[in-house]
Amino acid sequence: MFMNVILFFFAYFRLIIHILCVRDGLRNQRLVRQPSLQENAKTEETGEAEIINSFLSLTLLDPDVLECPTCCEPLKIPIFQCDNGHLACSLCCQKVNNICPSCKLPIGYNRCRAIEKVIEASRVSCPNAKYVCQEKTAFGNPFKHEKQCCFTPCSCPISDCNYIGLSKDLINHVRAKHKNDLNLFVWDTPLIIDCKKITLLQEEKDGEVVVVQVFSSSRGLTLTVSCMSPLTSKLGRFSCSLKFATSTTRLKQTLMLKEIQKVSDEHPGEGFMFIPSYMLPSTGNLQMGICISRGQDHILHA
Ligand SMILES: [Zn+2]
Ligand SMILES: [Zn+2]
Ligand SMILES: [Zn+2]
Ligand SMILES: [Zn+2]
Repeated sequence: MFMNVILFFFAYFRLIIHILCVRDGLRNQRLVRQPSLQENAKTEETGEAEIINSFLSLTLLDPDVLECPTCCEPLKIPIFQCDNGHLACSLCCQKVNNICPSCKLPIGYNRCRAIEKVIEASRVSCPNAKYVCQEKTAFGNPFKHEKQCCFTPCSCPISDCNYIGLSKDLINHVRAKHKNDLNLFVWDTPLIIDCKKITLLQEEKDGEVVVVQVFSSSRGLTLTVSCMSPLTSKLGRFSCSLKFATSTTRLKQTLMLKEIQKVSDEHPGEGFMFIPSYMLPSTGNLQMGICISRGQDHILHA
């Protein structure tokens, strides 16, 4: 059975997973490497065998093979099999009343230890590995890290530019390639900007890239202010105040900057400023006052 499973993996696996040799089920194993002749002499002197960290990389050609065929979720231990070798997770065994959905034989009584061992010993590289993230997560549980990975790349907000990179590289990219589209700003210093569908701002010294987006509808304009930044759990890094004034009206709104990796065309559900169409200038030009600060200053003192 174990050999069948291994052959199965080599035939179908598409994702690259790192199968870390695991000792005692959970800890990284340190393998005793066969010493070379020179090392043998040294080993004889010291009386110690050299121990090195080691792992084997496999390529999954079909990641579905590590999913429960019934619920399509990543297989979690305990994993059961029927007498024909069909797999099911423990929840599905209950759901199907211990009858194998594939062959109708009983299922839920025999564990599939071979697959359990493979899953226990597997580590999945972070999708941002190409952006140097070294994190590897246990199979079936990658999402916690992905939501906080500080190596999540950001896409350039300029619509006809396809650049994607780490936020620190986006800072340089924007400086070098979009100089003419940039509104430079300084923390805590008010600035007047001509708002287009996407308006690009960059902090003069720190280089932080901020995007003001305008979404139009028949009722008026919706504005959001976002910072191009990787997914992190740090909340409330930046806040801003937005001002809109005509000869008769004055609107002011304070917002926390959203941290985004890509601009979206979807109308925001919250965290926006709305300007009704009857207030908008007939010229179509939208001039806004904006002041951006680090931290939550604008919200706290609003
Ligand atoms: Zn299942
Ligand atoms: Zn079966
Ligand atoms: Zn990562
Ligand atoms: Zn660009």
